[in-house]
Amino acid sequence: MNDIAHNLAQVRDKISAAATRCGRASEEVTLLAVSKTKPASAIAEAIAAGHRAFGENYVQEGVDKIRYFQETGNSSLQWHFIGPLQSNKSRLVAEHFDWCHTVDRLRIATRLNEQRPLDMHPINVLIQINISDENSKSGIALTELEALASQVAELPRLTLRGLMAIPAPESSYERQFAVAQQMAVAFEALKSRYPTVDTLSLGMSDDMEAAIAAGSTMVRIGTAIFGARDYSNNKEH
Ligand SMILES: *Cc1c(COP(=O)(O)O)cnc(C)c1O
Repeated sequence: MNDIAHNLAQVRDKISAAATRCGRASEEVTLLAVSKTKPASAIAEAIAAGHRAFGENYVQEGVDKIRYFQETGNSSLQWHFIGPLQSNKSRLVAEHFDWCHTVDRLRIATRLNEQRPLDMHPINVLIQINISDENSKSGIALTELEALASQVAELPRLTLRGLMAIPAPESSYERQFAVAQQMAVAFEALKSRYPTVDTLSLGMSDDMEAAIAAGSTMVRIGTAIFGARDYSNNKEH
């Protein structure tokens, strides 16, 4: 087994163990392999190991990879945009990605709706919540969720699938769990109002166990699969 296949197997085992510990089925938790800054060859290794869902943070880099794998005949892959999205880049996301995790204002949602090509399925979107890091510019407060969700749900070229958050780092499991649980409560409330909602994108390498215990359905893992990132030679990073 190569490194990436080996790492993927280990991460999948960790997810299963975390799910089992809290009485959940491991199939309830999807692994999103975060491939930002990594070359197509690394993604190809993950594909060979059976992986299909990839997360990218930088629009142009993600689009280049999506095109590359389309040209090489890999049509079964699922591409998730997970980076901050500026209005002037929304068209590329609308035209290429399957999911966008970082919708945090109506303007972005409206643009994605207008720009989503009619021959593609509606783009799956998550509303990003700024759950613990007041200094971050990304994400809305939970108090703003109801208003934005009802507007997003009206847009026909978008499918509202749920919520995403990047909690501020916490050293203790208890604090990670407390924050994750706030997200889980908001997610359950949203789910009861919108039948298309089924995804809570929460949990990275350091807080995956707490996120899964609280109810996350999608964890986003990069370094543990692909190794450390090198930001030295791409102006988009
Ligand atoms: C980079 C990134 C990840 C993965 O981080 P790692 O530390 O490499 O596992 C997950 N989610 C988001 C939003 C990211 O930007």
